[in-house]
Amino acid sequence: MNSMNTYQIIAIIGVLIFIVYLIFKNKKSAQKEINNLNEIEYSSSSNMKFNDVAGNYEAKESLLEIVDFIKNPEKYSKLNARMPKGVLLYGTPGTGKTLMAKALAGEAGVPFYAVSGSDFVQVYAGLGAGRIRNLFKKAKKSGKSVIFIDEIDAIGKKRTDGNMRGSDEGDRTLNALLAEMSGFSEDSGTIVVAATNRIDTLDAALLRPGRFDRQIEIMLPDKNARKDIIKLYLSKKNVSDDIDLNEIADLTVYFSGAMIENLINESTLLAIRENSEKINNEHIQKAYLEILAGSEKKNLHENKAQKIVTSYHEAGHAFISKYLMPDNKIIRVSIIPTSKGAGGYTLSIPNKEEVVTKSRIKKQLAVLMAGRVAEEIFFGKENITTGAQNDIERATSLAVDYISKYGMDENSAFINFGVLSEKLNIPLTSVEQSVKKLTVEIYDEVVEIIKSNKEKIIDITKILMEKEVIYEEDLNRLI
Ligand code: ADP
Ligand code: ZN
Repeated sequence: MNSMNTYQIIAIIGVLIFIVYLIFKNKKSAQKEINNLNEIEYSSSSNMKFNDVAGNYEAKESLLEIVDFIKNPEKYSKLNARMPKGVLLYGTPGTGKTLMAKALAGEAGVPFYAVSGSDFVQVYAGLGAGRIRNLFKKAKKSGKSVIFIDEIDAIGKKRTDGNMRGSDEGDRTLNALLAEMSGFSEDSGTIVVAATNRIDTLDAALLRPGRFDRQIEIMLPDKNARKDIIKLYLSKKNVSDDIDLNEIADLTVYFSGAMIENLINESTLLAIRENSEKINNEHIQKAYLEILAGSEKKNLHENKAQKIVTSYHEAGHAFISKYLMPDNKIIRVSIIPTSKGAGGYTLSIPNKEEVVTKSRIKKQLAVLMAGRVAEEIFFGKENITTGAQNDIERATSLAVDYISKYGMDENSAFINFGVLSEKLNIPLTSVEQSVKKLTVEIYDEVVEIIKSNKEKIIDITKILMEKEVIYEEDLNRLI
């Protein structure tokens, strides 16, 4: 009996040990899983330099000071200068914000930790905050560094009381970030750089001193900057003599750096496809049209009726564009359907960067409406087609901004309707009325202009039907 008892006890202990082992093992793997979730991919070195970023002159200057600060933090702490812990780069997508942050790390010669705000938006409670802490822990271990958070708006949206952001989870992540930023000391030589397309949506807590207190706007490149960017990317290629930097800089008005890089790359691909050793002007022009309008599908107007309607539609756009904005350059009017789903297109660019005035917006609205108006006048109100879908979308968006953002409406001068509706907690119906009034007014004007210039539009249409594509010179001759 006695010995039996001993065996039993040993067996029981054995089972217990096994159970403890199982629990422990489980816990360990669960812990491991959480650790894995806490990890996100950081790329952590950068050999970019400011020379790899063209344009953005002011931003670079501002960041040069930060480079010095990262290298010699003592110099600043000795004089009790408070350097920013965080730099916020804001502005249009594709303008080189990420590039600039990389170059900052590259110039300072410190590791570069890059994450995106969307990596922190998680369904698991506490995971986003955990990831933030993890990121900073890693960065601190390496001493000086640049931590880059792209799309900071994903974690740092405004916490307004009326419009609750919803998740405590998001707040926890944001709080973790704020705590980490307050946590490291100013002379550590660590800088947090964040990027966003929309600074206006960020929580004020992020912009306070000690957080992202240096804010740098990164704008679309002006002509000089565009030239620099084109030069930068062409310098790495074999380029034919017929390429004119000035002309490409003109063509690419309102392009971002990323779009210019893409243009040069597409041109290179075209050159390779043609077994050409050099990139020439034709490649650039062709790539340009493909980027803006989509590639053209040849011989797809088998439907004659479609071709005629498209011709009148585009003739309408082209005519009104020349008529109201003679300074604009019409690059190409085409009735060849494109891979982007358009039946045809009229591509025009301003001769130089224009100030966006009230009168200019109205003219832009008129140009957008002119395709549909031409259809209506030449084929009848009941026979208008779906071809104006995209024009309508763009016109509506522009008209709403005219009324609600730019305060250009005489009947409601100087009011931002978004703010009005938020402060007074009222719906935005008054904007709708004003928008409708504006669009109807302009539409009627366009109808009048087209009615009294029918012959000219018929002339343009005839040539379009015959040649499928016309250019500025043809239009100038006709109008
Ligand atoms: P953002 O972060 O502002 O959206 P990125 O830095 O990601 O823009 O830019 C995308 C790409 O576009 C870059 O990798 C680079 O090839 C090109 N690019 C954009 N702006 C510039 C610039 N100013 N100089 C050189 N290249 C640029
Ligand atoms: Zn159209």
